[in-house]
Amino acid sequence: MQPKDTTNNEAFKGFTNHECPFLPCHPGVKREFNCLFCYCPLIAYECPGPYEVFTDANGVRRKDCSACTLPHDGYQASWAFIQKWLAKPVVWDGHEQSPRYLPKERPAADGTAASENDERASTDPKPETPDKN
Ligand code: SF4
Repeated sequence: MQPKDTTNNEAFKGFTNHECPFLPCHPGVKREFNCLFCYCPLIAYECPGPYEVFTDANGVRRKDCSACTLPHDGYQASWAFIQKWLAKPVVWDGHEQSPRYLPKERPAADGTAASENDERASTDPKPETPDKN
């Protein structure tokens, strides 16, 4: 049994740092903004976030998570999301994100393209398990 199993107080699942000068650092969060996972625990693991890949000055491939709201959208939802994906972590090998997790373009009312990514991310706190390929 873990300490969290001994209480009904779920305050450990999230908080919002209203004093942070960068809040809100990721656009599109619809529920409470959770700052607990400011440095996402999944950065080195497979995840369903809409990351882009870049190569840093040391030649290391890294995720650019600017468009991801999954660790931030709601205290309960983001906590459950992180727990699920850390339960059986798979080390990320530097590949581009699977198209299934990338934003889908849809026509906006004015005829321009709009992204569904923010909507998908905030309503899918328990996405499918990682790809095996
Ligand atoms: S894309 Fe989202 S879930 Fe994946 S590592 Fe980045 S912040 Fe975490």
